[in-house]
Amino acid sequence: MLALNKIRPGVNGLAVIEREVREPGPGEMLVRVHAAGVCGTDMQLYHGAGAFAQRLKLPTTLGHEMCGTVIALGPEAATPQGAGRVKVGDLVSLESHIPCWNCNACRTGRAHVCPNTRYPGIDIDGCFAQYITVPTSIAWVNPPGTAPKLAALLEPLGIAVHATLEGRGVSGQTVVVNGCGPIGLMNVAVARHFGARRVIAIDPNAKRRQMALQMGADEALDPTAAPPVQTVRDLTHGELAGVVFEYTGSPDGVRNTFAMVGALGDVRWCATPGQPMDFDFGAWRKSRPTIYNIHGRRLWDTWDVAAPLVYENHIDLQPIASHEIPLADSPRAFALILAGEAIKPLILCE
Ligand SMILES: [Zn+2]
Ligand SMILES: [Zn+2]
Repeated sequence: MLALNKIRPGVNGLAVIEREVREPGPGEMLVRVHAAGVCGTDMQLYHGAGAFAQRLKLPTTLGHEMCGTVIALGPEAATPQGAGRVKVGDLVSLESHIPCWNCNACRTGRAHVCPNTRYPGIDIDGCFAQYITVPTSIAWVNPPGTAPKLAALLEPLGIAVHATLEGRGVSGQTVVVNGCGPIGLMNVAVARHFGARRVIAIDPNAKRRQMALQMGADEALDPTAAPPVQTVRDLTHGELAGVVFEYTGSPDGVRNTFAMVGALGDVRWCATPGQPMDFDFGAWRKSRPTIYNIHGRRLWDTWDVAAPLVYENHIDLQPIASHEIPLADSPRAFALILAGEAIKPLILCE
């Protein structure tokens, strides 16, 4: 089969190569991939930087956001977590975390922060391929008739839903989405859906700002044109935001995040900064925001809420999938992201 692999360390090092299809072992399923999304983590692997890149054994097939059809099950697929839930022919999306299901975090309902988590596209071969072999325990089974291209976006949508529902939610509040990559843009729509009174989006990229308005933002601010903290202060008559979603991961962005959140508000921290940064605990103590560390999706609570938003058309993810690129041409998806042209390219794997 064809698969997009990281074959060399350092920047880029990607190639579409021929790889063997791996037969499903006990507790595993073989899935024919329909569509797969390119994520920020894949970009880190492209750049060859960060902890995930260190972990990667070359060659590895990248990709962890996808939808596909189950075509075979391993010999003992009825594991406690799979439990016969997954059948051949099912249209599945994948949870990208493969928790161990045995540690204290997993056994107490916090599998999304399992310290033993493995990831397709990092620790095992991922989904930028015609087929993927993964544990049935990470399958989310979609109802028949679900559009595969939308089902491929459920995993990143889950982060936006997780962030929106954490803490005191968003209902009736002014929220700021600081950073409008694909998940930030989804967060705009999710916050709107769950009853935010006002949604202010911030991003330096004009395309993303325009998309934020399309996804339901009331305002889309360019932080390079005017200081966004002052604008948010003006828009809220000095009250600032009840919730700020931090997606920038940059020192300036993070400084803005904490300056835009009102007294006793929430910072929902969704970014993974590339390096350590200074933090002003004195300023934090003055406004006392609560910081919620949003990691992945609660299993499976988040999926239970997120997936029906798409099935029942409460949220339109179509605009997020900005490009569709055939697997054979998939390195172009990375080039489009690097050029700032793509929101989220989908790789079509059939
Ligand atoms: Zn991802
Ligand atoms: Zn665990």
